[in-house]
Amino acid sequence: MSLPDRNNPYNFDDFLDWRQSFDYYRDDPFIQQVVKHFCGDQWETVDQAARAISKKVSFRWRDFSDAIAFPEKRPYVMHYDGHHHRIDRIVRPFEIEVMEREVFSERLFSPRTPPWVKLIKMYLIYQNGEACISCPLVCTEGLVATLEKFADTPETRCILKHCTEGIDGEFAIGAQYLTEIQGGSDVPANLLEAVNQDGTWRLYGTKFFCSATHADYAVVTAKPAGSEDIAIFVVPSWLPGNKEKEIRNGFTIDRIKWKMGTSELTTAELTFNGAVAYPMGPFDRGLANVVGIVLTLSRLTVGLSGAASMTRASREAGKYCEFREAFDQKIGMFPLLANQVRKIEKYTRRTTAGAFKLYRDFLTLEGGLKGGLKTDEPERARRKRIDVRELILLQKITATWDTTDILRLAISVFGGHGVMEDFSCLPRLFRDAAINELWEGPRNVLLAQIHRDLQRVAEWYPPEKFVHSILSGGKKALIEQMSSEISDLVAYPSLLDLTPETLAVCERWDNFCHRLLHRYQDIALEQVEGGSK
Ligand SMILES: Cc1cc2nc3c(=O)[nH]c(=O)nc-3n(C[C@H](O)[C@H](O)[C@H](O)COP(=O)(O)OP(=O)(O)OC[C@H]3O[C@@H](n4cnc5c(N)ncnc54)[C@H](O)[C@@H]3O)c2cc1C
Repeated sequence: MSLPDRNNPYNFDDFLDWRQSFDYYRDDPFIQQVVKHFCGDQWETVDQAARAISKKVSFRWRDFSDAIAFPEKRPYVMHYDGHHHRIDRIVRPFEIEVMEREVFSERLFSPRTPPWVKLIKMYLIYQNGEACISCPLVCTEGLVATLEKFADTPETRCILKHCTEGIDGEFAIGAQYLTEIQGGSDVPANLLEAVNQDGTWRLYGTKFFCSATHADYAVVTAKPAGSEDIAIFVVPSWLPGNKEKEIRNGFTIDRIKWKMGTSELTTAELTFNGAVAYPMGPFDRGLANVVGIVLTLSRLTVGLSGAASMTRASREAGKYCEFREAFDQKIGMFPLLANQVRKIEKYTRRTTAGAFKLYRDFLTLEGGLKGGLKTDEPERARRKRIDVRELILLQKITATWDTTDILRLAISVFGGHGVMEDFSCLPRLFRDAAINELWEGPRNVLLAQIHRDLQRVAEWYPPEKFVHSILSGGKKALIEQMSSEISDLVAYPSLLDLTPETLAVCERWDNFCHRLLHRYQDIALEQVEGGSK
């Protein structure tokens, strides 16, 4: 019975009190179990580092991330100062500046930070969504990895030090500018020109998607004049001594894009007019290096961020089910809803376990990342390299696709409150997830690349052996079935002819790749839960 009450006492305080005091690491036994399982003899170090940073991520940085998400806090560009000097200042709220300084001071990219410590910190930070932090972290990681291989001048070594150890206590932020107006997937079609003028390389032309525009340095792809090579350069946003004077290094920020997600981060359109640029690696290996190092790292981390945002959504949706009532019972007791919550939990756990297992595989790559498929390593090492490369692509497409699905489902658990921007962070995470699906390579492009890669290596690494290798530890019958499917699909010559037959193969390939990665994730989860390696 429900009689009228003009002083309706309803409130959300119990749920909010729980949410307010939840520590992302200390209060999550599952992630502790994942760390213990995958981090080997380093797990105690990783566990300690996670407990320490979690106190900041779960409270102070969480609140900053929420605060900057309001439209009135959006960053913008101020083109001129009061004396008509072109400055192109990215104006960001104070909270971002403070949080960014604190996050980058964690020295994530220092050689003294063990990789697993970096990973767990990133995973916890990503639970707060983009927040103008996630993309710059990923981009800085790619810049550092490229410089570690190719920094061979005083300027590039100094940039590397700025990113890894900091200079005068300030840590540099990286960006990556590849995409041009005519297309992002087709990097070889880049038109930005690099010209050697009196021994200095300078860039001329435009880039159309430039996120983390406030960064200190960007990895930029460009064609050296008269050549079709895609070369990689590192471009400082300001030359030494000019940051304080706000004199940018030979480029203008023409416009900030108005976008659906990751809105706390600017994505800009730029014109280069003589920007000084330092080459990284041989020009004829630029494309292989940008794909094999920069994009591979970003794709790996985008998969991890999917696990992180699902974790947040799963936790909050699960708790809401225990709190909220409808028709005189907790909503979690409705089987229709209970099924959805179970699905959210299952996807969260499998994606998280899979991301950590893949990172372990990645860390065991001898010689780290390399550009291209051809290496002079022994066959076993080459096969391992293919496993990791393709798993990173598979994870990027599967985890990002699943994240939008799971976030939408989690939003629906909250009913109408789910879409309220100031009720929970889920709408923001959902919009960020839609971006994650697209940047660093959209689904179709990566599906095509996996198909092409497996065809190119089939002679020395048949696709069925690839399936056996990545699903090792899984059920034999399932492995056999997937092996037979993949050999059939990879034998199909090309995914590029618009015929009924190719359309059917493409549909099967898309579905197969998604299932394949799910099986990899499920094996990872079984290993975590069963304690086997
Ligand atoms: C918010 C945001 C921020 C970004 N920030 C950056 C940044 O900082 N730096 C940067 O360099 N880029 C950035 N990007 C660009 C992003 O990487 C590109 O959008 C992406 O690579 C796709 O390029 P495109 O948009 O030109 O799409 P297109 O290449 O035009 O693709 C359109 C469609 O065609 C499909 N397609 C294309 N080629 C193939 C193929 N071979 N086989 C099958 N299907 C294909 C694609 O899958 C897609 O569905 C950003 C994008 C977004 C959304």
